[in-house]
Formats: sequence, C-alpha cells, structure tokens
Amino acid sequence: MPQPAIAASEQKSATAPTALSVLNSVFGLPAFRGAQEEIVRHVTTGGNCLVLMPTGGGKSLCYQLPSLLREGCGIVVSPLIALMRDQVAGLLEAGVKAAVLNSTLSWDDASEIEQRLLAGDLDLLYIAPERLLTPRCLAMLSRARLALFAVDEAHCVSQWGHDFRPEYIGLSVLAERFSGVPRIALTATADDLTRREIVERLALNGAPSFVASFDRPNIRYEIIDKKNARMQLKAFINERHAGDAGIVYCLSRAKVEDTAAALTRAGIAALPYHAGLDASLRARNQDRFLNEDGVVIVATVAFGMGIDKPDVRFVAHLDLPKSIEAYYQETGRAGRDGKPADAWMTYGLADIVQQRRMIDESQGAEAFKRVSLDKLNALVGLVETTHCRRTRLLGYFGETLKAMKCGNCDNCLSPPKVRDGSVIAQKLLSCVYRTGERFGAVHLIDILTGRETDRVKQFGHHRLSVFGIGADLNDKQWRAALRQVVALGHLRPDSEAFGAFKLTESARDVLKGITAVMLREESADAIAQRGTSRSKRGSKFVSVSRDVSSQSAGLMGALRAWRSEMARKHGVPAYVVFNDTTLEGIATLQPRTHAQLHAVAGIGDKKLERYGDALIALVEKEAR
Ligand code: ADP
Ligand code: ZN
Repeated sequence: MPQPAIAASEQKSATAPTALSVLNSVFGLPAFRGAQEEIVRHVTTGGNCLVLMPTGGGKSLCYQLPSLLREGCGIVVSPLIALMRDQVAGLLEAGVKAAVLNSTLSWDDASEIEQRLLAGDLDLLYIAPERLLTPRCLAMLSRARLALFAVDEAHCVSQWGHDFRPEYIGLSVLAERFSGVPRIALTATADDLTRREIVERLALNGAPSFVASFDRPNIRYEIIDKKNARMQLKAFINERHAGDAGIVYCLSRAKVEDTAAALTRAGIAALPYHAGLDASLRARNQDRFLNEDGVVIVATVAFGMGIDKPDVRFVAHLDLPKSIEAYYQETGRAGRDGKPADAWMTYGLADIVQQRRMIDESQGAEAFKRVSLDKLNALVGLVETTHCRRTRLLGYFGETLKAMKCGNCDNCLSPPKVRDGSVIAQKLLSCVYRTGERFGAVHLIDILTGRETDRVKQFGHHRLSVFGIGADLNDKQWRAALRQVVALGHLRPDSEAFGAFKLTESARDVLKGITAVMLREESADAIAQRGTSRSKRGSKFVSVSRDVSSQSAGLMGALRAWRSEMARKHGVPAYVVFNDTTLEGIATLQPRTHAQLHAVAGIGDKKLERYGDALIALVEKEAR
C-alpha cells in the first residue's frame, strides 16, 4: 500500500481507501450489486471462495476490487484472449495498471510485463492457463507479490461440462504452490456436478460459495414452432430488432454461411463466424460485431465465450442447443447491460431427431451418452413446456422463483391452450406399430390423413385400419403432435433406419389408455393469433430498449458518434470507452460541471479527467 490506482480515491477522502471508495473513484459506480460487497470483503481479507453469478451479474469486480485493495498483483486466469484484451482495455481506461500475458505477445513485450510484475508495478495481470502453467511462469509468480488468484470461467475444469479445457485441470497447482494466496473461482454455470468438480480441483473445500440468483429478468424467453426458420428469423429481426446487435446460433458451418447470406440479402448487417473461416476474416467479423453498432453475427457455438459486449439485444437459435446449460449460457449473452433483450428460438421435430442421432452415433462411453441424453431430455422438457419457461430454467439450476409465473416469457405472456391428446397419440402410435416401425413422419402422416400416394399403395398401407383415421387434423397439426409425442418419450428415432420412429416402453400404456397425453394446441388459428399478438408487443418492446426522450435523442446521437471516434482513436471497442447506460445517463442528466458528470454511473476519476471537458462541451453544443 498504497497502490497507484487507489491514489485517485485518496483525493476524494482523506481516510484509507475502502472498497466503496475505490468502487466510486475508479469504476465510477455508486453502489455494490447483490453479493459483490460481501465477496469483496471476504477476498480482501484473504479468504478463498466460489462465486456463481449469471452472465452480466458483475463477477469481474469481485476480483478486480480486492486486487486493488490488497498488496501485490491480482492474477486472473481466463481462457479467452478476446475477453482478457477487452477487460484490460477497460481497466486501462479507468486508470488501473493492468496487463495481459498470452501467446500473441512478442518476447520483448512479455518480458517487460514480467519486469513490471516483479517490480510491483501491476495491479492486475491476466494470464492464459497454458501460459500460467509453464515452469517459467510459475517460477516468476513465486518471486512476485501476489494479491490473489482469480479463476474465471471456472466450469472449464469440469470434464462433464460443455466447455471442458484440459489445461484447466493443471490449475490444482495453485493451491499446492501458492497456498497463502487467496483463490476465487468464478462461473456462470452452476449445476451441482460442475460445482463439486470446481471445489475439488481448485481445493476450495470449506470455502464459502456465493450463489447469486441466476435469473435474468430482462431477458424474454420465447420458443416457437419451426416452420420456415429463415423467414421466421427475418421477420423477428425486422419487426422487433431492426438496427440492433444480435447473435444467431446455427449448428453447422454451412448453415451459418447460408443464413448470414440470406440476412444480408434482406438488408440486415449480418456477418458469419465459425471455426472453418480464415482466421483473419473471423477476427475481422468479431471485431466489427464488437465495435460497430447494430451488427448481427451468425455463428456456430464456437462464437461467444468471452464476448463481453453489453448491448446485444437478442440471441436467436435456429437449432437446438446441446443442453440447458449451453442454452442458458448462449442466451445469457443477450442484455448484459440489464436492458430488455430477447432469447428467441425456433424448434421442430427434426431438431430432437438430429440431436438424438448425434448422441447415438457418438463414440463416447456409455456413461457419457447417458449424461448427454439426460441433458437433451431436460432441454426438450423446456422447449415443450406449456408453463413458465423461466421457472423451468431456474428450477433446473436448483432455484425456485417466488412467483410461479415470470410474466416475461412466451408462455406467461400468451398461455398456450392444452388439451387431452390421448386419442391423437393413440392413432399415431398405432400407425407406427401397424407399419412395422420402419417409416418416417411424411409417410405416417400420409396414412393418417388418408392420402393414397404411390408409396402408400406400394406398401399396401391404404388397406390398413389406421388409413385415414386422422383426417380431422391437417399436416401441420400432425407434425406438431408427432413432435410432442417424441418429446414426451413415447416414440424414439430409430438409430439404424434414418427417419424412422420406434415405440418405446411407455407407448404401451398410452395405447392402453393408462397414460394420458396432454398436447399443446397448435391449431392454425392459435398460431396466427399468437404471431400477431407477439409482433405487436414486439414493436413496443423495441421502443422500450431505446428509451431516450426525444429531447435528449439528439444528444444521444452525438454522444454515440463521439464514442465511436474515441474508440477508433484508442483502438478499443466502443463500450470500453463508455457503455450505453453511461451515455444515456449523460443524455438524461445533461451535466454542465465535472461534479455533475461524476454522478453518472460509469464515470470514475480517470475518465472524468480524460473525457470530462469534451463531454461537457458536447452537452452544451447540443443544448444550443
Ligand atoms: P460478468 O463477468 O458476471 O458477466 P461483468 O463483470 O462483465 O459481468 O459486469 C456486467 C456489467 O455490469 C458491466 O457492464 C459492469 O460495468 C456492470 N456492473 C457490475 N457491477 C456493477 C455495479 N455494482 N453497479 C453498476 N453496474 C455494475
Ligand atoms: Zn414466464
């Protein structure tokens, strides 16, 4: 003590810096959020802990502040270069002595950073795990004064998880070699198995877990029936998110390319991103998404981890994610700034079939397949539920919502009608049975609706008792029924005959009338009605997300333009200069003095000093 970054706060109060004074002066934030204060206190006094917070919950401050308050440098282990780079850029903007050590640095640059670490001239150092674990780096760390170790994205240690990174296993060395340095593990993935693995690998037994609510109340969940996915996506973006930044997830590289091209043809600023693209093009597309306003990135799941962009207004899934954890993490990239955002997905029968096949055909051990299948089933339960999606999601993570309805998901906003579909299910199951469990959706529906196609006649299926017994429903309704019966587990895709369905154990009880089958009503009317009521709400929704009065709208535009210019000049993403919340704060308050400007959330001492005069000049110019 005193550390350089704290010196700024000492100008404000004569007493020693406290967590709150550093939060105010360095980060420009008025108050802690949720458990942050408790966590900061715990780590600052030398405690280990595990922090489980949703994306956007404010995990970074939990280790950044203790690093500033404790003697020595905080070491942050993070798996992604982009994330480290942006965090460090943000810290430098706030006047914190931060640096990053990764494989992209030249030898000279790296050794300069090492010198600074040993000289006590760094508050925070971000290091990629594979680099940290080299003997050379460990030896250097043992000669430095260390404030703490923060292991970000700690779920990467879990072999069962969806983001397993082998190099994370080696992090157990931290407890062995640096037992006196506090360890704080942070993640937004919190199922029980993962949690236990983190505690074991990082030797956190006995240390407290700080578990924040995983609810993201500003995200609206919506999962719709897949008809023409691309048209549905275009309508969704045009009607509700014109000009907004968003992420569209697809399963395959080919689909990423096709979708990005189709959106571009429709006049939407869309860019593709997947592991097969040339590295420089990939980096360029990612940079444009981060730095420009209103870019839509169409990507495989290779994209997103470590993407800190706060103003992503929607995440759309054109294919089913792998698990609820993956869904939650991917959708969690929307609305980190706390403003309204959409998590939107189109989903159909083919999605379940495809995922099941991928699991069936995977080379993994049986135990691994079983875990994957359980995860898929939990996800199918979420997409098929007729109850509140949020309640279901949070329930999966072991959290109960106080109200049974969140009021901000599709099922809460326009509750689907449910009816007893036992007879429909019986007709379907009989048809599968009578045709020898060898046929797919199209053929089954032809028989049920009584169409004498060549194929139907070729197999003599027009003479079966089930022929035409389902003529009261149309194709669309039959497809919806089939999807739900598969989702409920009474039929399963055949792992050998492509496209065919087989009866499961539970099908017998449905056929006997012992198990009732409740089906979501998908009559043409209901679908049309839901469609319109949603797009009406949608348009209101968009205006909420741009909630700036017309008076300050001009100023807001000027502030955005100024921010872009600063970002370009400093070579950082726009939100590293100021996020939208801060710009809106300025546009609303229209401050004319440094003191007034300091009251805006996100403006700390350093940014006030650097940008204060320019911002006040801008406010005055716009007021004229
Ligand atoms: P996480 O790492 O948990 O996803 P971040 O640490 O990136 O989340 O924080 C998400 C956003 O919330 C950031 O824009 C950050 O500035 C903001 N934030 C964090 N803590 C606070 C706070 N106490 N008050 C206001 N904003 C906060
Ligand atoms: Zn709900």
